[in-house]
Amino acid sequence: MGRDGVRAERIHVDGIVQGVGFRPFVYRLAVRHGLEGWVRNSTAGVDIFAQGPPAAVEAFVRALQREAPPLAEVQAVRRWAVPPAEVQGGFRIVTSASAGGRTWVSPDAATCPDCLRELFDPADRRYRYPFINCTHCGPRFSIIRRLPYDRPHTTMARFPMCAACEVEYHDPADRRFHAQPNACPACGPHVRLEAPARLRRVVADVQPDDIARAAALLRRGAILAVKGLGGFHLACDATQAEAVARLRARKTRPHKPFAVMMRDLAMVRRYCEVNEQAAALLTSPQAPIVLLPRREGTDLAPNLAPGLDTLGVMLPYTPLHHLLLHDAGVPLVMTSGNRQDEPMARTHAEARAALRPLVEGFLWHDRPIHNRVDDSVWMATAVGAFPLRRSRGYAPRPVRLGLAAPEPVLALGSEMKNTFCLLVGEEAFLSQHIGEMQQAATWRFFVESVRRFEALFGARPAVLAHDLHPGFTLTATEALAEVPGAARARRVGVQHHHAHLAALLAEHRHPGPALGLTFDGTGFGPDGTVWGGEVLLAERAGYRRLASLRLFRLPGNEAAIRHPIRIAIGLLRETYGEALPDLPPLAVLDAVFLRTVQWQAARGLNAPLTSSCGRLFDAVAALLGLVTEVTYEGQAAMRLETAARAAPLPEGTPYPVVWEAVAEEGPFAPTLRLDWRPMLVHLVDDIRRGEAAEAIAGRFHAWLAAAAEEVAVRLSRETGVRTVGLSGGCFVNRVLLETLVPRLRARGLEVLLHRQVPPTDGGLALGQAWVAARKMLETSP
Ligand SMILES: [Zn+2]
Ligand SMILES: [Zn+2]
Ligand SMILES: [Zn+2]
Repeated sequence: MGRDGVRAERIHVDGIVQGVGFRPFVYRLAVRHGLEGWVRNSTAGVDIFAQGPPAAVEAFVRALQREAPPLAEVQAVRRWAVPPAEVQGGFRIVTSASAGGRTWVSPDAATCPDCLRELFDPADRRYRYPFINCTHCGPRFSIIRRLPYDRPHTTMARFPMCAACEVEYHDPADRRFHAQPNACPACGPHVRLEAPARLRRVVADVQPDDIARAAALLRRGAILAVKGLGGFHLACDATQAEAVARLRARKTRPHKPFAVMMRDLAMVRRYCEVNEQAAALLTSPQAPIVLLPRREGTDLAPNLAPGLDTLGVMLPYTPLHHLLLHDAGVPLVMTSGNRQDEPMARTHAEARAALRPLVEGFLWHDRPIHNRVDDSVWMATAVGAFPLRRSRGYAPRPVRLGLAAPEPVLALGSEMKNTFCLLVGEEAFLSQHIGEMQQAATWRFFVESVRRFEALFGARPAVLAHDLHPGFTLTATEALAEVPGAARARRVGVQHHHAHLAALLAEHRHPGPALGLTFDGTGFGPDGTVWGGEVLLAERAGYRRLASLRLFRLPGNEAAIRHPIRIAIGLLRETYGEALPDLPPLAVLDAVFLRTVQWQAARGLNAPLTSSCGRLFDAVAALLGLVTEVTYEGQAAMRLETAARAAPLPEGTPYPVVWEAVAEEGPFAPTLRLDWRPMLVHLVDDIRRGEAAEAIAGRFHAWLAAAAEEVAVRLSRETGVRTVGLSGGCFVNRVLLETLVPRLRARGLEVLLHRQVPPTDGGLALGQAWVAARKMLETSP
C-alpha cells in the first residue's frame, strides 16, 4: 500500500480520560474519519497512534477536544508526526496495564439520559434495575480502592459479570465498553428492604419490588435509611410535617434545613424558582443540591427550612433514587445519614449503630461503599454560582493552579467544614467534605482519607500547610503520626483569612497582588485576638492586614455563639455604657443572666476580643428577635438575610459608615477600623420606633455593603491594586453579594468571586496549599 499523502501522528491526551468512555470515543471517531491506528491508556492519560489523509487526521484531532464524552475533561492534547506504519485491522483499542503512574480519578456521575431511558423501558433487560450505568455515568470515586481503575480494584470486584454484560464490556462499539461497574439483574448488586413485620405486612402487596414497597412506606409517613452512592440518607415524605418533625426530634436537629430530592425539573419548578443557571447545575452530571428560592403556598412541609425563604433541592442522581422518587410521587427529604456532626455512615454495621434509633426501616444494597462522599451544595446568585460544599461529583477532580509546587504539599484545611488538599505539581486534589473536626470519628475519617489520597495520587507530602490555631495543629500532629510522610514533612502555618483570599487567587490562577475582603466567622489571629472581618492585601506568598472591624467582646466565648444575645449585650455595653437601652429581646432575659453577661463583657472574663463579621450578623439577628438559640452554623445570618429579602433594600446606606484611622502597634495592626457603634445607635433607634425587623435587616445589609465598598475603593487608591477578592463565610449571602459586586465593578475594580471552592472554611485547604507552594517557589533558588 502506498504511503503517499498519508500522515501519521502520535497523540497524547491529558486530563480525566480514563474510566469515562474515552477510548471507545476515540475508536468511533477514528473509524468515522477513516483512520487506522490504535488507542491505549497510558500512565497519565491516553496515547493514540493515528494515520490517514492529512485532512482527516486534522479533523480527528480537533474533534478529540470538541466532542469529548460528558465525563471527560481534556486538559491538553500533545501531538507529533511519526513515520507511517503498517497497521493491521484498521483502528484498534489496545489494552495496556497502567504502570501505576498518577492518573486522575473520575468523580461519581449522575445517571445519564440513555441509562435513564433504559431504566424505565419495560422491554429493556435492565428495566427497573437500580444499578444500571455506563461509561457516561455511575459510581467512580465512591467505589475505587486503588488504581488503575479496573473492576477488580473497585467494590464491584465481588460481582462477576454475566455473559451478556461481558459482551457489552468487550465491544468497543457499545456504550458499556470497559464500564467497570457494568451490571444487570442477573449478575450485579441488589436492594433489600428491611422493616418491622407490621410495616412489611402493610406494603406486602405493593408491586413490583422492594423499592416500590419502600416508596409506599415513605408515603405512609415512615422514616427510612436509604443506602445510596457515597453514604446513607435519611428519607421521609417532604410534604408531611409530622414525619419531618419526627425526624428533627430523633436527629436532635431543631432548625437546620433539610435537603429535598425531587423527581424531575418540572417538579422542582412547581416548588421553587429555578433560573437557567440553577437548572444547569441541577441537571449536570455532578447533580448537586442547589439552594433555591422557595415558592409560597405549596404543599411542602413548613418545617423543612424554618425561618428561611430558600430550600436545598437536588434531582435523583442514581437509578435507585430515580426509581424511589418515581414510585413515591412526592418530594422526599434526603438528609445525610449520620449522628450529629459525625461523618456519614459507610458500612452496614456503622449504619445500624448510628441510624437504627432514627428510622423505621432500611433500604439496603450490597454494593460496598469504599470512599464515602456527601452530597455537594451550590448557591446560585445574580453574580454567579459557587459551591458551599464541594464533594460528590467534584472530588477528587483537581483544581489546576497557575503555579507548580516543587514538592507535594498536604494542606490540612480547617476545623469546621473540613476538606484537605493534596497539591502535586499544578494539580490541587481537594478531598470530599470531611466535616467537623471536634469529633473523634471525623478525625478517623480525615486520616483514612489522607492515606487514600496519598495512595491514589502517588504522592507523599514534603510540606504540611496548616491553620495557625494551636489546638487544631496539636491534634493534627497526633493524628497524622500514622500518615506516610506526614511526620517528617516541613510545616508552613497559614493565617486563616489569608488562606481564604489565597483560595480565590488559586482558583482564578491570579498571581496577585490583590485586596481581599474576607468577611468571616472566626479565625485565629496571630495578634491574640479572634479575626473575622478583615481587609488584607495579598502580595507574593505573604499578606498585610490593612483594615478590620472595631474589636468587640464575645461574653461567654462558645456560649455567645449559641446564644447571640450575649454578643448583642457586649456591643450595647461598648456603645451605651452601663445603662443599656430598653429593647424587647433584653426585656425577656433573666436579670441575673443579664448582669453576668454585662460583667463578663466589662471585665473581659471568658470574653475574647474579636473583629468577626459573622458575629456582628449574629448580634443583629438577636437584637431583631430573629433568633434566640443558634443550633447550626450560619443560622442567624441566614435568618437575617431572609428577613432583608422580604423588604425593599434601601439605596445607599441609611446608617453611617465610619472607618476610623487607627495607630495600633504590632506587625498585624490594621490602619483602619470600621466603627460599628454609629450603625448600632441608628439600628437601636429603629427598633425602639417599632420599625419592622425586615426593614432594619435590609438597612444593616446596605450599611455593610457601603462600608465594604468604601474601604475597597479607598485602599485600592492607596495601594494601586485594582483587584478585590470577596471570601469568607459572610459572602454566602445573596443580598450582600448582589448589592456589593455591581458597585465595586462600577468603581472600576476587578472583582474575584469563588467559582470552584466554597467561600467558607470548606475552601480553606486550597488557599493553604497555594500559600505553601508560593513560599517554596520564593525560597528555592
Ligand atoms: Zn449511563
Ligand atoms: Zn449481567
Ligand atoms: Zn473562615
